[in-house]
Amino acid sequence: MQRRQFLTSSLLSAGALSLANQKSLAWALQPGYKFKPLRNNVGIFAEQGGTIAWLVNKEGIAVVDAEFPAPAEHLIAELKKQSDKPIQWLINTHHHGDHTSGNISFKGIAQHVASHANSLANQKSTAAKQNNDDKQLYPDTTFTTEWKVKLGDERIHAYYWGAGHTNGDSMIHFENANIVHTGDLVFNRRYPFVDRTTGASVQSWVNVLQKAQKQFNKDTLFVFGHAFDPEKVTGSMADLAAMQNYMERLIDFVKSSIKAGKSKDEILAATSIPGVTEWQGDGIKRSLTAAYEEFTM
Ligand SMILES: [Zn+2]
Ligand SMILES: [Zn+2]
Repeated sequence: MQRRQFLTSSLLSAGALSLANQKSLAWALQPGYKFKPLRNNVGIFAEQGGTIAWLVNKEGIAVVDAEFPAPAEHLIAELKKQSDKPIQWLINTHHHGDHTSGNISFKGIAQHVASHANSLANQKSTAAKQNNDDKQLYPDTTFTTEWKVKLGDERIHAYYWGAGHTNGDSMIHFENANIVHTGDLVFNRRYPFVDRTTGASVQSWVNVLQKAQKQFNKDTLFVFGHAFDPEKVTGSMADLAAMQNYMERLIDFVKSSIKAGKSKDEILAATSIPGVTEWQGDGIKRSLTAAYEEFTM
């Protein structure tokens, strides 16, 4: 509380508040972070960026995704309170900065970093473009279709089913706990980012979500990269079906609009997608643009 008050008063005394400052003020006023056990020693951490999943057991610690450096340090401090065992694995669901910028906080702490091979390639090419290669910690272990590792009494199983939100997204299953981190393959009830610069495909995304629903079961608990309601970063198979429905309605709408001779501007001006009622946020244009490009280029 003291720290928060300090942040508030120092921001206020900084004088005129620009929009950017108002945003950081709002951020400073938010109550810290969420560190929440789910079941079988697996839980989530959420502060800023894509949701993190963690496992702590007698043999060690595994972490899926890393948000940004400051949140990653908060997570590491929480994990150290739980166990003095090493962090054996940091696994990235995909390369985006809100999932991998915090990797660097695990330097010298995590024994290994794993991701899909495309995620590593995307992380490297993005760092080269943004000139922040020195702020990256890259995976030393990569896989292409699937990958398994045992940690104490838990088995961690990564699945890759093709392009979706990027061309390098995998889902990470803690098999005994039956908890899956979907990464950004699920934006729960929130308009998704579709990153065509690193090989995203709305068409293939549907297929990936179908495969996930076949692989996992009604007892599986899912952790989502993002959700409109911060309380809904976890959910069930029904939420994967809802995400698939969103992608299918998006595809139908954009394809039929193109067929009807609508211009790109007309299509991008849509403020809703027929059949989509639950999706919210300010990013509908990102979906429409990606689908339009995919079906016209
Ligand atoms: Zn994300
Ligand atoms: Zn992402």
